[in-house]
Amino acid sequence: MLKGLATLFVFTTLMLQSTSADIINIGIYHNSKITAFNFQPAEGSYTVFTEHGKLLEIDNTTSLNLKFSNNKVSIKSNTKDYGTFKKVRFIGKGWKNSFKVKPNSSKRVKVYEDNLFVTPHNYYSYFQLINNIEIDNYVAGVVESEVGRSPPPEYFKLQAIICRTYALKNIKRHEGEGFSLCDKVHCQAYNQKPKSELIKKAAIETNNIVIVDSDIDLIVATFYSNCGGETAKSEEVWRQKLYYLRTVKDTFCLHENNAVWEKKIPKEKWTNYLINKGFPKGSLQEECGVEYFQNCREQFFEDQNVQIKFTQIRSDFRLKSAQFDVIPNGNYVTLKGKGFGHGVGLCQEGAMKMAKSGYTYGEILHFYYKNVHMINLESLSFFKADY
Ligand SMILES: [Zn+2]
Ligand SMILES: [Zn+2]
Repeated sequence: MLKGLATLFVFTTLMLQSTSADIINIGIYHNSKITAFNFQPAEGSYTVFTEHGKLLEIDNTTSLNLKFSNNKVSIKSNTKDYGTFKKVRFIGKGWKNSFKVKPNSSKRVKVYEDNLFVTPHNYYSYFQLINNIEIDNYVAGVVESEVGRSPPPEYFKLQAIICRTYALKNIKRHEGEGFSLCDKVHCQAYNQKPKSELIKKAAIETNNIVIVDSDIDLIVATFYSNCGGETAKSEEVWRQKLYYLRTVKDTFCLHENNAVWEKKIPKEKWTNYLINKGFPKGSLQEECGVEYFQNCREQFFEDQNVQIKFTQIRSDFRLKSAQFDVIPNGNYVTLKGKGFGHGVGLCQEGAMKMAKSGYTYGEILHFYYKNVHMINLESLSFFKADY
């Protein structure tokens, strides 16, 4: 009997691996250093597997507490101590499964879909929690975490395609840690199961659709809040020049929330910064460096032979964007900026405005990413097959 169960465990593992195009492993509570948490099914029931095979089955009436101690995982319910293990997997039994997680250190309960893998962290004394989840369920979770529930449905479809493309492009980002992507903005924000049915529907309706370049490689599908009227070329912000991330004049975002910003900086702090970067002291006293107009996106803030990248100034002063004018203002300088974010690729507020105005997700996508193609993942493997 035990041997039969062990075989089932191995079989389940293989089955999950073999459908890897549809299932993805996400490191949840990444860097939260969880040492104890409660697990409880929300929908459906779960089978609990350990390295010895099947341990038990539970439904939403049972909550288990898992604790990390001596490099092992102990499992207890209110009434029973199940012992300690090296690995624990909660595998959903039904068609639709979700579960609740509540770390002992937090009051917040989060709900996730599909399966949960629990292992001690490779190096530290806390858990590594991995949500083994169907990719469209994950994509819907990311869309809601990244953009909330207010945008129009057409925008959700567009964002779902972008998030799917991004996830598959970066599938090896955390390979050494035993999962594909983390749940923080380092990869893509993924807070929990989405509440919006419209977002769920958008992920399902765009199932398998991804964006590729002319070599049929997944594109670098970057996005940010607002471009301020003009998007940036990829090489202006990062090193890589990508033909589909070019300058786009965008009038759709000009009256949206993040179109403009202002920041006041003491004049002395600003001029000292410029002098440290090599600006001649004399020119600053004559107010050269304290008055500057960037009419369209420029790469460098410059004065004769000195150049500072606007992206560098953005990072040093924690500015919303790298697109700004400098206006003298008594003992201060006022930076008057446009947009919010790095500016490369899709402008979210512009794209939302387009969606509200009746543009389709395909039209919006081709407006921001130049000469790309939307294809089904199945045809991607067809194009990439060796003949
Ligand atoms: Zn990450
Ligand atoms: Zn824009």
